[in-house]
Amino acid sequence: MSAATDLALAPLTLGVLGGGQLGRMFVHAAQVQGFRVAVLEPDPASPAGAAADQHLRAPYTDEPALAELARQCCAVTTEFENVPAAALRRLAADCSVAPPADAVEVCQHRAREKQCFAAAGVPCAPHALLASAADAADAALAPLLPGILKTAALGYDGKGQRTVAHLADLPAAWAALGGVPCVLERRLPLARELSVIVARGRDGQTVHLPVQQNLHRDGILAVTQVPAPDVPAATAARAVAWAESLAAALAYVGVLCVEFFVLEDGSLVANEMAPRPHNSGHYSIDACDQSQFDLQVRTLAGLPLVAPRQHSAAVMLNLLGDLWYPAGDAAPRTPDWAALLALPGLRLHLYGKAEPRRGRKMGHLTVTAADAGTARAVALQAAARLGLPGF
Ligand code: ATP
Ligand code: MG
Repeated sequence: MSAATDLALAPLTLGVLGGGQLGRMFVHAAQVQGFRVAVLEPDPASPAGAAADQHLRAPYTDEPALAELARQCCAVTTEFENVPAAALRRLAADCSVAPPADAVEVCQHRAREKQCFAAAGVPCAPHALLASAADAADAALAPLLPGILKTAALGYDGKGQRTVAHLADLPAAWAALGGVPCVLERRLPLARELSVIVARGRDGQTVHLPVQQNLHRDGILAVTQVPAPDVPAATAARAVAWAESLAAALAYVGVLCVEFFVLEDGSLVANEMAPRPHNSGHYSIDACDQSQFDLQVRTLAGLPLVAPRQHSAAVMLNLLGDLWYPAGDAAPRTPDWAALLALPGLRLHLYGKAEPRRGRKMGHLTVTAADAGTARAVALQAAARLGLPGF
């Protein structure tokens, strides 16, 4: 169905599977545009559940809850990558679902994802799938070392990964990851990391946000700068073109993020995809005329897609739970938000999570300015006030 024709008639309800911060920011964007939002999330105290018009507290595969979600909603999406594909398929029997379950399943499995890259002509790191202890002891893997062993499924924020320097260490690394199917990737010489967010409608029309330059610390996104300061225009254009062809290859509907590496020789390779808005796109809330969540609403509701425009330079800093423990204290202490908010162009986004834990994404801040130099200078001041390293 197209919501465009019905918008004036009734407050339509959009559904989300998952209760995290990405769902919360989707809820905010959808509500601004006049939609009601229902969230299916078992956790009674989730960031998205707290913001939604309706919170269905049940497991993602709970049949009565899925039936109720489909009854209430004209369309349903997901805010996390590891949503059970069966839940998306069940919902698709009764309402519109985006992204499609098949595309989500590709993004959920690193080996399938890399097959998709190859089929679309997009290069990625040399790799092999390790499905058994015998695979992990295979001497033919030597050319992939030094490498990174990653669980094929369920990894995020660098979790489920081990660096492996020598062939002899591989069986133990595989066992330490639980003996589950893994992908071994060669460790590439990264010059920098990029990501591209595309939004694709049911009719195949595709728009994109500007290329984002990302800095990770300990496998977790720390800083995003847009415009990307160190990326040649041709590299950025290639990243966008590849992200668009991957979306087309997946018959994708919704918001898709593709992460890329720029290697020391300047070449571009794909890292992985996320079938949803992405942490590196949060800056778009404050710096673009349409955010990644606005685009998610539009693709889900079948509304027109118009190329988003970045109106301000932006730097985003992630705020992890570590900030609550500045001196390794036993008891958490709330950071000095007032010191941050005294900086020009800074907006603070907190996700409403009660318990700060190390490595947990508690919020982010975005600094916007008329030019990239000013945005960076203010963001560096913010980092210093938080005790974070520079970039
Ligand atoms: P997330 O879902 O949070 O993006 P993840 O847990 O899925 O992360 P990856 O994106 O695979 O993990 O890896 C996390 C980071 O580790 C990358 O952003 C990059 O900094 C580094 N990394 C991953 N693979 C490689 C590689 N083959 N060579 C060099 N560095 C890598
Ligand atoms: Mg990643």
